[in-house]
Amino acid sequence: MELLRSHLSRVRIPEPTNRIYKQECCISFDTPRSEGGLYVDMCSFLAFGRGYVQWNYEKSGNPVYLHIQQHRKPVPEDRPLKKPTLLAIGVDGGFDNQEPEYEETHSIIVLPDHVCLPFPSVELPEKVRLAADAILMTEGAERKEQIASWTSEKKRVSAYALDLQQINSGVVIPPSGWKCQKCDKTDNLWLNLTDGMILCGRKNWDGTGGNNHAIEHYNMTKYPLSVKLGTITVDLEGAAQMYSLIRRMTLLRIHY
Ligand SMILES: [Zn+2]
Repeated sequence: MELLRSHLSRVRIPEPTNRIYKQECCISFDTPRSEGGLYVDMCSFLAFGRGYVQWNYEKSGNPVYLHIQQHRKPVPEDRPLKKPTLLAIGVDGGFDNQEPEYEETHSIIVLPDHVCLPFPSVELPEKVRLAADAILMTEGAERKEQIASWTSEKKRVSAYALDLQQINSGVVIPPSGWKCQKCDKTDNLWLNLTDGMILCGRKNWDGTGGNNHAIEHYNMTKYPLSVKLGTITVDLEGAAQMYSLIRRMTLLRIHY
């Protein structure tokens, strides 16, 4: 408890305008139902699976997390099971009785040693209690999030994003070590969301910057949506939004 008190400055009580991620890790596909549960950073309100919470701690220095875990409830033996037929698949009611039920448990985790404090508990500092309550009561940003909200150019981009056609180029996007596919530039790179091409950015008036390869590619193909790769590591909020957009797309895969 003393350890937690020493980190209170790294705990924020979310305000109504804060977006709170609590349904899916912003990097992996972990959810509260995954084996390690989900860790909500109580300062940035981004969510991480067990495999990435340490990484976030090292990047952000945020040590306090609300851990959300959903366990499958055992099915009572006397629960009558409907026998679904093929015709019932995908029809409301077809598999009702086989839907597992989950119960959710919470705790406060302090990194780096994964010190686990029970929640709810009257012994927790009030700020932590208020913050955790607010996180749990707020609707998750994943559900609220519209594709349109991920950039300031809302209307234009959402129109592109909603009917973006993707080409199955078999491309797997690596998590780092990117290089322009037409020259050797390794910074100022853009990922085209249609075909997965990674190309360098605009050449500046003074000769710095990229070699215009992303723009030339756009002029040739008219594939409209690109994201700047360099922003991923410095801007977690941007990363979360970008991953959530890319995840909606079936053909491009980001591998971690
Ligand atoms: Zn280039």
